[in-house]
Amino acid sequence: MTRVQERNASAWLIPNDGTRTNHGLRRDMRRFTDEDEIDLVIVGCGAGGSVLAQRLARAGWRVAALDAGPFWDPDTDWVSDEAGSHHLYWTEPRVITGADPVPLGSNNSGRGVGGSMVHYAGYVPRFHPSDFRTWTQDGVGADWPIRYGDLRPYYRAIEEELPVAGERWPWGEPHGYPHRPHPVGGNGEVFLRGARKLGITAKVGPVAIPNGRFGNRPHCIYRGFCLQGCKVNAKASPLITHIPDALAHGAEVRAEAMVTRVAVDERTGRATGVYYVRAGRERFQRARMVAVAGYSIETPRLLLNSASRRFPDGLCNDFDQVGRYLMVQGAPQTAGRFDDEVRMYKAPPPEVSSEQFYETDPAKPYRRGFAIQNVSPLPITWAEHVAAQGHWGRALRDYMSDYVHWCTLGALCEFLPQPGNRVTLDTEKDRYGLPVARFSYSQCDNDTQLLHAAQRVMEDLLHAAGADEVITIQRFAHLVGGARMAADEQHGVVDGTCRSFAVPNLYITDGSVLPTQGSANPALTIMAVAARAADLLMAGAHGGRV
Ligand SMILES: Cc1cc2nc3c(=O)[nH]c(=O)nc-3n(C[C@H](O)[C@H](O)[C@H](O)COP(=O)(O)OP(=O)(O)OC[C@H]3O[C@@H](n4cnc5c(N)ncnc54)[C@H](O)[C@@H]3O)c2cc1C
Ligand code: SF4
Repeated sequence: MTRVQERNASAWLIPNDGTRTNHGLRRDMRRFTDEDEIDLVIVGCGAGGSVLAQRLARAGWRVAALDAGPFWDPDTDWVSDEAGSHHLYWTEPRVITGADPVPLGSNNSGRGVGGSMVHYAGYVPRFHPSDFRTWTQDGVGADWPIRYGDLRPYYRAIEEELPVAGERWPWGEPHGYPHRPHPVGGNGEVFLRGARKLGITAKVGPVAIPNGRFGNRPHCIYRGFCLQGCKVNAKASPLITHIPDALAHGAEVRAEAMVTRVAVDERTGRATGVYYVRAGRERFQRARMVAVAGYSIETPRLLLNSASRRFPDGLCNDFDQVGRYLMVQGAPQTAGRFDDEVRMYKAPPPEVSSEQFYETDPAKPYRRGFAIQNVSPLPITWAEHVAAQGHWGRALRDYMSDYVHWCTLGALCEFLPQPGNRVTLDTEKDRYGLPVARFSYSQCDNDTQLLHAAQRVMEDLLHAAGADEVITIQRFAHLVGGARMAADEQHGVVDGTCRSFAVPNLYITDGSVLPTQGSANPALTIMAVAARAADLLMAGAHGGRV
């Protein structure tokens, strides 16, 4: 048995017969009744929720993870087709506002077991040590109540469990990866060529796609449908990396269960369970402890919708912190045209990246920085890119038929946390009669300067690689924050262990708790934070009591 298999056997629990789902495991999973007072009910079965479920189920806790979406079967539910993949996205109504409203939907959040990682791209860089103390170091953002060193062992553990393939990483705290880097396709080759010409360091990976077979998960077949849900089971998502092991250790995954409210006993101030709607009926799951992991929009929304006499302005919101400091990364996307065919679709979209511009450069007028990565839009997304530049009709058709000649890069710019960028409740109601999230977003000057700087580097890089035309569009990616961890309840919603300040047996273990976001894609850090929270819970970080 390998070391990874001893602590997480998910990859070995997947069938080895050409099918993708262990139906027996699902059929025979433990099922709790609403009347059982289980140890832990988790809201949301994505990056953070699934890791918590797997860790605590292994430790013998009686755990149920409820998810509003389906329990996906890659064989029957997913298609390698852009237009046919919309059911993977969270498309319930949300209201967006502010000076720079952020479009929500496909590029932001998913639904169903596996969460947004089902259709994420698969880049899994670590945060840098500086990300945990941007206020002290750069005078912007916020310091975390924990440090990089607190997450280091969890980064390593999750990298082994996904597993991650990539070159030795020279940025942040230098480190290696368990799997060697994948070969790159045309898109990655262009990136490497342009970077070499400009003296920019670029590396292959890190991607959550095993390089070789991993357990019963097969090798990637390089057909580029990572953002549509990998039918092959090569790309990691909690659906295949953590949920099988959780089920094998007695966790229940209750899909199609929309949690509408966290209940708190007015007398004791402790959470008693969650109300949820399943098959049109409202039910209540009792639990000794509750963890919310519904993503950066739905987590604050659920807390605000859980107002009570004790918490009239929303659960855990005595200090008006819930929903604030929501962040999105500025993600401008630059495409360059080459005479040779690039065929950017013929590889996973994540291939090559550079974190050379990640840290604050004192010579620049802005603080913090950006990362550059390959992105490889498939034809519909490519049409959106071209149309966003104003091309339509005949011109759009020409760009479309020229698709194989284009290479695309994307930047992730570290937008700063601001109190006014937040989720509140709107007057509009959803199909459950619950107020929908209203998400207000405005950029600050630093954000805008980063966008321009990143655009310049990407355009220079593509020109250096030989592009005769470049086109850039503005996008956003990766929401985090909204229920951040902090040193005290006046500055955040949870402490460094992910326990809420206001309710001693309520935890938040998703991307909402991140106080800053760096220029790194967040999923690995979210999983590492959840794995650490689980370890501390198991060790009885609070005197053995929750
Ligand atoms: C297109 C795209 C590309 C991305 N690419 C990358 C990438 O390359 N690398 C990376 O690191 N990150 C990437 N991300 C981001 C990453 O997937 C997310 O940051 C991460 O999955 C968030 O984890 P989470 O636990 O906060 O929420 P999620 O993983 O989204 O899980 C939340 C879950 O909660 C459920 N839920 C919500 N509300 C309720 C409720 N009330 N009741 C019951 N269930 C509920 C949802 O159905 C969902 O399954 C990408 C995201 C998208 C959408
Ligand atoms: S490129 Fe590889 S990881 Fe991506 S969807 Fe295809 S097989 Fe899966």
